[in-house]
Amino acid sequence: MYNKNVWEKYSSDVDKIMSFNEGYKHFISVGKTERACVKESVRIAKENGFIDLAEFIKNNQKLQAGDKVYVVNKDKNIALFVIGKKDLQAGLRILGAHIDSPRIDVKQNPLYEKDGFALFDTHYYGGIKKYQWVTMPLALHGTVCKKNGEKVDFVIGENDNDPVVGINDLLPHLAADQMQKNASKVIEGEDLDLTVGSIPLKDTEKNPVKANILKLLKYRYNIEEEDFLSAEIEVVPAGKAKDFGLDSSMVMGYGHDDRVCSYTSLKAIVDIENPEYTSCCILTDKEEVGSIGATGAFSLFFENTIAEMLALQQVESFLAVRRTLSNSVMLSSDVSAAVDPLYGYVNDNKNAAYLGKGIVLNKYTGARGKSGCNDANPEFIAWLRNIFDENQVCFQTAELGKVDQGGGGTIAYILAQYNMNVIDAGVPVLSMHSPWEIVSKADVFEAYNAYKLFLTK
Ligand code: MN
Ligand code: MN
Repeated sequence: MYNKNVWEKYSSDVDKIMSFNEGYKHFISVGKTERACVKESVRIAKENGFIDLAEFIKNNQKLQAGDKVYVVNKDKNIALFVIGKKDLQAGLRILGAHIDSPRIDVKQNPLYEKDGFALFDTHYYGGIKKYQWVTMPLALHGTVCKKNGEKVDFVIGENDNDPVVGINDLLPHLAADQMQKNASKVIEGEDLDLTVGSIPLKDTEKNPVKANILKLLKYRYNIEEEDFLSAEIEVVPAGKAKDFGLDSSMVMGYGHDDRVCSYTSLKAIVDIENPEYTSCCILTDKEEVGSIGATGAFSLFFENTIAEMLALQQVESFLAVRRTLSNSVMLSSDVSAAVDPLYGYVNDNKNAAYLGKGIVLNKYTGARGKSGCNDANPEFIAWLRNIFDENQVCFQTAELGKVDQGGGGTIAYILAQYNMNVIDAGVPVLSMHSPWEIVSKADVFEAYNAYKLFLTK
């Protein structure tokens, strides 16, 4: 099944591909932040019979084969499990993806007024080409935590009747100086500020436009200016994911990296029943900034959850946790850079990912001499090739561009520290890290099939 075209495989039932992608388009259209992805994942999990692990812990109830449980970590990170017939210590089949995507964050002290406008100061998150984020409709997804413990969630800019916000750019007529700068400086980080208003508040002398925005925020959301200090307001491209191409073969959407592998991994785990080995899907935060923090892949959350599950089986030893993890195998479900017909010179075409050829196995990512990579064992790759071939799952292999062209990483090496076999396996993406990324619907569907198959082997 190596390098086979997925569209040809499904030539007689393309509808399967199309209908699966309707669910995906919905998921990324509502899941524009890690919090929103967790919320939607919990909804899908509950709908499919998953129960909060806390219920089992509270009742000290043993986990039985076939039980389906989930654990949410601080609203930004989730793990789901389907208990297998074998003992937990035989190891898990793990799908690990990330639900954070490159974006722009509103600063802690954001609001100011200049030249008759109210603006929000921002700080970008993850690796973006800053010039791509100007002069386009942007939406605000916020969680504001007030001193009294109350949380105010809001989304502005996603409904048809909502206003949007945005970042200005110079007109070409007056951009003589700007156009001399190199692309990383054309739009500077401190110039990614959002225009949020222009009506002055009546009878106000000092910063009347800012005062008007504050009045509006107080009226609509009961937020004071100081409440920005304990808020997370994420700025993302406004609008829904759409079919892309005259043949509707692709999806253009914000945050395919890595919600495309998150959705397909999530769907895979909710669609399997009674696996031999315990199945796991973990969706992590902070990958785009190094997987650090309590909700990133480096957090002990996952290990602690395994310890909790073992404790429910009356197994409370450090060794049991270690055995469970080192006997596990994992697909690091993360996207690959697809060959772009306009920029073919960045790839070695024999070792590059193409849209429409199925799930991509990346033996290694990294930069220069593979620095920072996981580099999966060939024994593990052979096992995967075999199950993909036996079950007619289209797959391809790739590395991230030509040698010395650049590089990047995933969460693969982090979980591999537990001495488990891990390989990067995900969907190829065009225009990665841009506001509107592109994937092939065929690859989305085939990734789901590959993940589901992996969980049952
Ligand atoms: Mn990624
Ligand atoms: Mn990324």
